[in-house]
Amino acid sequence: MDCHKAGEYMMKFMDGPLSAREAAELERHAGTCATCAEDFAAYRGIMADFSETELICAPEGFEEAVMGKIRALPAIARSPEFFDGVVYGIWGVFSVLIGLGLILVLNRDAILADMSQNAAYANFMALISPVYAYVSDLAGNIAAGWRAFANGVYAYAEPIKYAVVAIFVILAAVQFFARKREPVKTR
Ligand SMILES: [Zn+2]
Repeated sequence: MDCHKAGEYMMKFMDGPLSAREAAELERHAGTCATCAEDFAAYRGIMADFSETELICAPEGFEEAVMGKIRALPAIARSPEFFDGVVYGIWGVFSVLIGLGLILVLNRDAILADMSQNAAYANFMALISPVYAYVSDLAGNIAAGWRAFANGVYAYAEPIKYAVVAIFVILAAVQFFARKREPVKTR
């Protein structure tokens, strides 16, 4: 018997008792091989510990309950509909806000002129004009900052444009393959 075979017998020993012949073969090998003798002693020690340990049965339905929880986890994590819903929701809100913002910004002078001429809005206008001044100031700063940033980017290198395109293509490909992959079936 070689060490490999001895290892197999030891694994078998851990699962249940060996036949008399197998036990004798293993004992004979352990008598000539210090490594296997050490391993076998360790396994025997583990088995002895186990036999002293009182086994407690899990309550009825325990395994089913655990497996049910496990099955529920990947179902949520892998559900493409769930993420699509979240993503489209965010995009929807974002688009509506952008659209409203654009409409307001493009027509702000007309809207403000109209409102300031209407007496009913006088109090409201007095209230919002500092806010409006602040917001347009902020918007102007943001726009200026963005322009400076964009100019900087364009001044730097044309290749960046291609890099951005490449990144979008890769992201689209990743999305495509992630969507294509079948959800893993659990049982
Ligand atoms: Zn050996």
